[in-house]
Amino acid sequence: MAEFCYSCAAPLHAPEFRGPVENHCKHCTDASGNLRSREEVQRGIAYWLKSWQPGVDDRTALRRADHFMKAMPAWAEDE
Ligand SMILES: [Zn+2]
Repeated sequence: MAEFCYSCAAPLHAPEFRGPVENHCKHCTDASGNLRSREEVQRGIAYWLKSWQPGVDDRTALRRADHFMKAMPAWAEDE
């Protein structure tokens, strides 16, 4: 089992993130355990970023989420 979500780096040992599948947290998967779309996960991460940096506007939060996701195994793009 992965220690961190491959999609958003949430700690999978924490009950609030553990979901039905091994390598992704419950926020990054739907009810059947399928990985959500990149747009959905990006919105979720942007929302999370704004929760601890309330001054950040939506566009900036989405851009930062996009940047963050490029480092994640689930979304990494081949160079
Ligand atoms: Zn996740």
